[in-house]
Amino acid sequence: MHYLSVKNMVYCSNCGTQIADDSYFCPKCGKKTQAGKAAKVNYPSDELQDAFYQVGIELERAFNMAARETHQAIKNARSNWQQNHKPSQEQTITCPKCGTKNPTGSIFCISCGARLTPVEESSGSA
Ligand SMILES: [Zn+2]
Ligand SMILES: [Zn+2]
Repeated sequence: MHYLSVKNMVYCSNCGTQIADDSYFCPKCGKKTQAGKAAKVNYPSDELQDAFYQVGIELERAFNMAARETHQAIKNARSNWQQNHKPSQEQTITCPKCGTKNPTGSIFCISCGARLTPVEESSGSA
């Protein structure tokens, strides 16, 4: 006696996905089921998988190339940016006491607190 309405479920021997036992292939991984084997389904799954594999390689290669180009572009952009925004020596104030480089406009050393802008003794402009 067969159950007509309730399908028996089997599990994929490869990935464990539950599949109807009248399925010939696992819908998830493409592995041929017992039913598929029993039915002697002729399906070029191996070739198909090879094709998928090839596509995967191509995609990966393309992706790597794109990633490399992107990386290069970022690198170029960054070096351009650095050339434009180079923190040149003139733009930092080196502390005469401790040698710490202070950002432009600093009056006192951020490290030791020494006065960075020399007090011009001969500036009698008052
Ligand atoms: Zn599977
Ligand atoms: Zn200092």
